[in-house]
Amino acid sequence: MKSLSVILIFLVMLTRGVQAYPVSDHYDGEKFFNPEANVHLTLWDILKWKMEMNAAKWPEHLANKNYPLPVISPTQRAVVTFINHATFLLQLPDLNVLTDPIFSQRPSPIRFMGPKRVREPGVLLEQLPQIDVVVISHNHYDHMDLDSLKNLDAKFHPLFLVPLGDEKLLKEAGIQNVREMDWWQEQVVKEHKIVFTPSQHWSGRGIFDRCKSLWGSYFILSPDFKTYFAGDTGHSSHFSNIKLRLGSPDLALLPIGAYNPTYLMKVSHLSPEEALMAHDDLGSSFSLGMHFGTFQLTDEPIEEPVERLKKAGRENFVVLDQGDSKIF
Ligand code: ZN
Ligand code: ZN
Repeated sequence: MKSLSVILIFLVMLTRGVQAYPVSDHYDGEKFFNPEANVHLTLWDILKWKMEMNAAKWPEHLANKNYPLPVISPTQRAVVTFINHATFLLQLPDLNVLTDPIFSQRPSPIRFMGPKRVREPGVLLEQLPQIDVVVISHNHYDHMDLDSLKNLDAKFHPLFLVPLGDEKLLKEAGIQNVREMDWWQEQVVKEHKIVFTPSQHWSGRGIFDRCKSLWGSYFILSPDFKTYFAGDTGHSSHFSNIKLRLGSPDLALLPIGAYNPTYLMKVSHLSPEEALMAHDDLGSSFSLGMHFGTFQLTDEPIEEPVERLKKAGRENFVVLDQGDSKIF
């Protein structure tokens, strides 16, 4: 009788998936979910969207301007460099952090398919200074590029911070120094507290792993400087919650592209106007736009996110050219 029940439990676990994490307001025992909105994006939705053929034509190739890469000096609190897409190099006085690094030609499981980059990274991987920490917001190919991660691991052996459910992907790629985090968990590195914070998005690299791993953003509390990296996200109350719990950042890195068609993208991506709302919700002192201008993922023209952001005329929410830096 006892062995029968053990077999039954095992069979139930097999069919339902093993519960790997505690059930929470964003995990039901099998899948992760957003507390405020459901992201319903089926294969049929994507097929219908692609058949609409409303995508603006992007240029094949754009040249970057040449910018010198500054090295942080002892009198500076932070130096941030926009590399491309959602990749920033953040130099703090004793810590270099890289966000969602992608240096590959395409954010895709197949090397010769998927959107091809229209410009080179503003800083090449070979030009980077020592990287101590890599933070990864979720496992979509444009944010978790395993080729880039393997190269970074070989060159710098940094600590990789990933959302719950993603550690095994990196370990399978041969990367050992990985820590996976749930929302509001923190990792202390030297004097810096790195908190994994919520976002409103989804995850998946194939058809069978939809929402099997978490997504999120990062708040880095350094002794003299607070940085927020939003990852991929729609607009929700998580921005004001983050401000309530951790305070307002000195610098917020917020996505402004991949919003058309809105009926599909609004829940999981920000328009420039929604990014401005997020900037205000956070009470951010200074924000930089990201997630535009490198890979055509959605229908809007390449220059539109920046134009719409500029229209708002905020001096403390701007974009940098790929390769350009801002010193704090
Ligand atoms: Zn994504
Ligand atoms: Zn993305």
